[in-house]
Amino acid sequence: MKTPQKLTPLLKQYFAIKNQHPERILFFRMGDFYELFGEDAVVASSILGIALTSRKHGDSGKLPLAGIPHHTLDRYLIKILKAGYKVAVCDQVEDPKKAKGIVKREVVEVFTPGSVTLDGALDEKKPSCLVSLNLQDGIVGMALLDISTGRFIVDEFDEINLADNITFHDPSEVVIPEAHKSRMGNTIKSLLPNSTVTPIDDYRFETSMAYNDLVTHFGTDSLDGFGLGNLTCGLGAAGAAFAYVKDLKMGKIGQITRIERLRRDQCMELDAATIKNLELVETPYEGRRNSLLSTIDLTLSALGGRLLRRWILSPLTDLKMIGDRQIAVIAFLKSERSRKSMIASLKEMPDLERLASKIAMRKAGPRDIINIKSGLDNVRSLKTAARGMKSSLIRQTIGSIRPFDDLIAHIDKAIVDEPPAMLSDSGIFKSGFSADLDRLTSEIEEAKNYIHNLQKIERQKTRIPSLKVGYNRIFGYYLEITRPHLSKVPPHYIRKQTLVSAERYITEELKTREEIILNAEEKIKTIEYRLYDELLDTLNAGIADIQTAAGAVAILDVLLGFAALAEETGYVMPKLDNSLKINISDSRHPVLERILVSGKFIPNDIIIDGAGKRMAIITGPNMAGKSTYLRQVGLIVLMAQMGAPVPAKSANIGICDRIFTRVGASDDILRGRSTFMVEMTEAASIINNASNRSLILLDELGRGTSTYDGLAIAWSLVEYLNRIEGRKARTLFATHYHELIELAERTDGIVNLQVAVEQWQDSIVFLYKIKPGGCDDSYGIQVARLAGLPERLLDRAKEILVRLETNRSPDGEAAVKKGAGAFQISLFSPEESRIRESLNKIEPDKLTPIEALNILNEMINLMKGDNE
Ligand code: ADP
Repeated sequence: MKTPQKLTPLLKQYFAIKNQHPERILFFRMGDFYELFGEDAVVASSILGIALTSRKHGDSGKLPLAGIPHHTLDRYLIKILKAGYKVAVCDQVEDPKKAKGIVKREVVEVFTPGSVTLDGALDEKKPSCLVSLNLQDGIVGMALLDISTGRFIVDEFDEINLADNITFHDPSEVVIPEAHKSRMGNTIKSLLPNSTVTPIDDYRFETSMAYNDLVTHFGTDSLDGFGLGNLTCGLGAAGAAFAYVKDLKMGKIGQITRIERLRRDQCMELDAATIKNLELVETPYEGRRNSLLSTIDLTLSALGGRLLRRWILSPLTDLKMIGDRQIAVIAFLKSERSRKSMIASLKEMPDLERLASKIAMRKAGPRDIINIKSGLDNVRSLKTAARGMKSSLIRQTIGSIRPFDDLIAHIDKAIVDEPPAMLSDSGIFKSGFSADLDRLTSEIEEAKNYIHNLQKIERQKTRIPSLKVGYNRIFGYYLEITRPHLSKVPPHYIRKQTLVSAERYITEELKTREEIILNAEEKIKTIEYRLYDELLDTLNAGIADIQTAAGAVAILDVLLGFAALAEETGYVMPKLDNSLKINISDSRHPVLERILVSGKFIPNDIIIDGAGKRMAIITGPNMAGKSTYLRQVGLIVLMAQMGAPVPAKSANIGICDRIFTRVGASDDILRGRSTFMVEMTEAASIINNASNRSLILLDELGRGTSTYDGLAIAWSLVEYLNRIEGRKARTLFATHYHELIELAERTDGIVNLQVAVEQWQDSIVFLYKIKPGGCDDSYGIQVARLAGLPERLLDRAKEILVRLETNRSPDGEAAVKKGAGAFQISLFSPEESRIRESLNKIEPDKLTPIEALNILNEMINLMKGDNE
């Protein structure tokens, strides 16, 4: 915004601050309001729906103005942040009463999409994440920082994997070095259209500076204890994220108590396509609804909800770790009493992680502190209930929770059970907590009591029945006596104010009480602020412990959720081993099973073994259930490796290092890729990354190109996956190319499966049952009939099909050569074709005029029928 010349002192101060935050909307505190000026006011008024006025300033006319009451700030901030803007909040940082001249003002916090901590702006079931990216010699350093919980993670990977990594974390804001603004910035914008890209100074990414900043913040000698060892550009990214957020939050970032390196060795990497195709955390049309996450989420706390999401996106590959989770779930299933009491504690569990961050940022209100107390109380009961459970994971988890008796007792002693919402309201501290506070409070109480009783006492003493005790802001407390009684006014009354019909007085005693009330109230406020600050300090010292406890609660909540899942849905615990088998009987699709009317879902078996039955080619008509079958196998494997129970009668699963999927056909318009290009890119990623231990799910391949091209590519891909050592992954391939059935006969390791259908007259019935063998009919016309295409169209399609199958053109002419483009589809309708045929047969010389007229009539009728 251009700074006008000749300004009032206030606007001078405004513009000095605004110029330091040119890209941010500035909320400028003035008394009880936050005011916005100039373009900020114009933008904000249209987003927030608040009145836009204008104010005259110094020289060049009027400046647009808008404002909101100060206590509504959070509500409006959420709206403006959602609209994609960054906001700086400027407060009065000195007491206006004590200010000499213009009140001192400073920006106290900056809000950006990736650094939001406001309750209403956060999704309690999803992390709110800021990502910072650094690039050096083809290696990307990435740091993830969730300021709402303090979670801070760092990672390094090849530049080629940038798209998968960044879409996986779905950050709301990405910080990049200024130098990579155009190249990286554009890539990120195309990958994450809803995310904000923020370029910052390159020097922020310097490794040595990052190292020093982090070591200073954590108060450690080195970063080795965090396992950051030989990181370079990852460290730069971490330093940049840290410095950026530290600046935005004016250094109040005590919730960052540790930094972790992303562990890839224990987890299955899931690429963006697989997360999307298996609809793990959201579905294309319904958001989170009907995703795997929403279907299996029986967690009771926000902490558990967020962890479950993480577990779904990082299934384990370590048998021991999976086994530990399974044992814990079984232990919960066996001890119903403990489980019940843990459930009760979890139901009452507040979001300790986010509350801890509020403490660190000194934004926690009195009610937040009471919530922390009740959370820690529940943690204590949870720990007691989980004691003695036969599971090393549970033991280890509760072992990490330190006793919070001291903190609980401290809060309990300090704060009343139902405190007011704001610190500015009195009555937060319990009596007995501070002698000073108690003395002042009782002095006030005594004074108020005195004033309360004064009217009655003075009426008796003076015998003036209309004597009144009152208060106004200018004169304070007074005794009011109406004119007819003035003669009875005692001598020690001191006249203060004259009204038309009365006089107002004070007494020395009343004055003393008034002073007590006014002074003590101020003193109380000062003491309360100090005590509150000290309380926050005490809690702040325990933040790392509260975060650890929150982590433990989350684990217990997810594991208890798994137990509930097993109990409520009849899911079973799978057996996992190091074989290459996948043997699941009566497998079900967790989401579809839930959506369909009970009992309507048909379960299916799957047996593959990494050897003779390494790959299954699944054929069957459209809508027969092929995709569902593929997806359910993928989901069950994934759930098994999370340590969760699975929807099946029994399951034996040889651990998978990765699951790859290529499902359905869709254009990726945003990234400018056609269906075929998307298909081929996904296939390339599979070919380049799959190992013998992977699971590949291919649902149609080659659809986006001509039949023969597509078939050729699908065929050679199957051969490749079956022949090239190191790529012999277990594979399920659903295809409409029934020509591929042949491959099973010729190649070891491939088996055919088909989805059963029954043909009945011109229609088919889907049985949804997978059985051995291949299906060599697509039943396309029957499926099209089910979809409701008109009969006449279907008749014509049948006609064309017969001709295609007998290798003739749709018009009945023999095709010149086999293959794509061997004939042109006729432009004529069936009726027109029939008219042409009859015209060909007519010998006009032999017709009588009547016969000719009849034929003409017939043809006209035929055409009319066609146009009806
Ligand atoms: P395809 O991939 O063969 O075209 P889908 O897997 O998309 O078929 O399934 C089509 C529809 O059939 C599903 O939306 C679902 O309603 C139903 N369906 C699929 N599998 C089953 C099953 N095992 N039991 C019951 N209904 C099923």
